[in-house]
Amino acid sequence: MDEHYELETLAVRAGIERSQFNEHSEAMYLTSSFVFKNAAQAAARFSGQEPGNIYARFTNPTVSVFERRLAALEGAERCVATASGMSAILSTVMGLLSAGDHVIASRSIFGTTVQLFNNILARFGVETTLVSLTDPAEWRAAIRPNTRLLFVETPSNPLTEVCDIAELSRVAQEAGAKLAVDNCFCTPILQRPLELGADIVIHSATKYLDGQGRVLGGAVLGDAKTLEGIYGFLRTAGPTLSAFNAWVILKGLETLNIRMQAQSANALDLAQWLEAQPQVERVYYPGLPSHPQHALAMRQQKSGGAILAFDVKGGKDAAWRVVDNTRLLSITANLGDTKTTITHPATTTHSRVTPEQRAAAGIGDGLLRVAVGLEAVSDIKKDLERGLAAR
Ligand SMILES: *Cc1c(COP(=O)(O)O)cnc(C)c1O
Repeated sequence: MDEHYELETLAVRAGIERSQFNEHSEAMYLTSSFVFKNAAQAAARFSGQEPGNIYARFTNPTVSVFERRLAALEGAERCVATASGMSAILSTVMGLLSAGDHVIASRSIFGTTVQLFNNILARFGVETTLVSLTDPAEWRAAIRPNTRLLFVETPSNPLTEVCDIAELSRVAQEAGAKLAVDNCFCTPILQRPLELGADIVIHSATKYLDGQGRVLGGAVLGDAKTLEGIYGFLRTAGPTLSAFNAWVILKGLETLNIRMQAQSANALDLAQWLEAQPQVERVYYPGLPSHPQHALAMRQQKSGGAILAFDVKGGKDAAWRVVDNTRLLSITANLGDTKTTITHPATTTHSRVTPEQRAAAGIGDGLLRVAVGLEAVSDIKKDLERGLAAR
């Protein structure tokens, strides 16, 4: 869109391109290929002389609307949509890195991302060093001449630790590397990493962008030059977003702003309430003054977000009692849904990590993570209170 519009407006209108039928709602184009007027047009499309669709592994009009809209929200020159969040991360590393390159990532990134780096990329000669999310000195110390990529997630899962994106972008610049931020927890509504100096933003669209737990999707955003190589990998290897999923997530984007605000407000209310419960040892939520990086989070994010964690006194048994006494909350490791979810990280998302590593990361046996949804916060409290009281 030519004029400057606010995020609220971009979320519902950016990227629209109407067909000959002038449809109001975005159309879904379920077609794997596109036809050409004649041989010359086919040749021009293939040579790149004429822009346009060829085949849905390359581009699809519905996917393109989603890409333009998310690019507008993140303030990015270009967005490339992918089949899932993991394929967004895979496409980024395959597009940017070669054998012999080095990656620095925070220890607290999504578990599957660690596996991708340590088990798969390592087989192709790309080495990864894991460092503390919140200590820039550790990032600086890990830099090598062949460091090409810094990879971070903020706030972290499940302890909601926050890192200084602007500071890490300076570290990346000094190293001649790119900084990629997985912006899954905040979405562009609460945090815009490119404005803070990041080079690349990555999304699992499966989470808040869809927001209703329906489909998988992902995206990589950044400047056109950086994205060209990433798109090149995607077009060749094929982890492309389907038109159907793009359409579903596009509709999700239209309510992203109000969902993020309402779910964050619920999370802050719940965090404050949990902090006052005698059975709760500690609450982890960037919106609370007790959070170690509260000031940074309030500078960097519009709010604390919709995810919090808390330690229940009494360890695993007490934490499981809280989980097992819920009637409303969904017991699932997923997040980013309008329905509130509850997870016991030590025995689910982080069960493959050794107890020593868990302890070092601060993930105790009594820790529970709640991804707060859109229900009445009074009902969420009632659901947790039952388990907290049953001791
Ligand atoms: C879920 C998630 C991913 C992976 O996304 P998928 O869509 O499941 O592939 C990556 N990063 C974060 C922070 C996530 O929560």
